[in-house]
Amino acid sequence: MAECSACGRPRETVWRYCPWCGTAQRVKLVDFFRPHPLLESDRAKALRVSRYFGDAEDERQVRLSIWHELEGDRAQADAAISLDVGEAARLAGFLANGGDTAAERPPPAGLGSSAAG
Ligand SMILES: [Zn+2]
Repeated sequence: MAECSACGRPRETVWRYCPWCGTAQRVKLVDFFRPHPLLESDRAKALRVSRYFGDAEDERQVRLSIWHELEGDRAQADAAISLDVGEAARLAGFLANGGDTAAERPPPAGLGSSAAG
């Protein structure tokens, strides 16, 4: 149970709006990123990045998901992962700095050999 950021009344953390005053509790920004244009295997895919803002630590996250197009103007997620704010900032630095931060932290256990490639 959390408190509404506007009126202070209790609310469930999964609710997007306060049931008492109607204030939005969970703000989300979404953007899509196209695949490399020369890689045929990724042609019908997209990376969706959803950034969640909120008062509680578990509400603030960045969710990355890979989607592929289906017939009929539909899409389906193939995989998804949520990063906390610190890991999302580290990812942003990795992309912005050409990978200079890659050696700052070892890969998660079991992913060392695949992450190195
Ligand atoms: Zn409220």
